[in-house]
Amino acid sequence: MKQLLKLTLTAALLLAAAALYAQDGDAEPSVSTTAIKGNLHLLQGKGGNVVASVGEDGILIIDDDYAEYADAYHTALKQLSGGEGVPRFVINTHWHFDHVGSNGYWGERGSIIMAHSNVYQRMSTRQEMKALQRVVEASPKAALPVVTYGDSILLHFNAEQLEVQHFARGHTDGDSVVFFVQENVVHMGDHFFKERFPFVDVGSGGNVFSYADNVATILARIDAKTVVVPGHGSLANKADLQRYHHMLTTTTAAVVSMLDQGMSVEDISAQGLSAEWESYGNGFINTQAWISFIAASR
Ligand SMILES: [Zn+2]
Repeated sequence: MKQLLKLTLTAALLLAAAALYAQDGDAEPSVSTTAIKGNLHLLQGKGGNVVASVGEDGILIIDDDYAEYADAYHTALKQLSGGEGVPRFVINTHWHFDHVGSNGYWGERGSIIMAHSNVYQRMSTRQEMKALQRVVEASPKAALPVVTYGDSILLHFNAEQLEVQHFARGHTDGDSVVFFVQENVVHMGDHFFKERFPFVDVGSGGNVFSYADNVATILARIDAKTVVVPGHGSLANKADLQRYHHMLTTTTAAVVSMLDQGMSVEDISAQGLSAEWESYGNGFINTQAWISFIAASR
């Protein structure tokens, strides 16, 4: 059964992964900048969303996209800051290459990289990502986090208090969510793929059920005025995150009930999920892959 599940998952993801990586040879990388509020800006290239705090204390960024986008980010940060554009701090929400790809670039320029201790663990050793049919080699020293933490770490920067909170067994085993307390902004990392089924990296200690619980915990902490930055997708609010959580709980309940009836992942995929969520499978993770993650999380 496990073997069959793996095969199914592989087949479902190969096409999606092929499409994603086919973009690697894209024309000139570019980065767009959107003001969030106060010192905070959303920077978007190709991978995970980047939030930059730019102010009197300098620059801090959360995540740093793919390696080939480093120069484009540097240009954007020079423009925002009117200075050298090198962050003093880089926080990684988790170890995936579309979020930490430019760590080496910044580490070599003196940025201090911070992440949960499991991010350090995974980046410092070779990782086999079976779900993506991809092997990620150990990172060079300059790309590794220098400051690691367990449950949380608090930063005081640009007149802002940043609570960097670890959420266990979520998208991976080393995810952090960053709360900007005064500005009421939260960077979700990959605990939020806006209007998409999420990639839940079960092979890296992620789990669909506790992922949904983590999102519920975050929902309880924020309010209607909170700006919610997803790991992937455009800026959102609490209602958007509530709808995402509703998707997580209803689709997982439906799949669990079908698995309990003895249906296979193929059977469930053939039957499909509620039409309400059909467009959620148009991204990197299609409906079959999402069903596979739910089955693999049990
Ligand atoms: Zn990720």
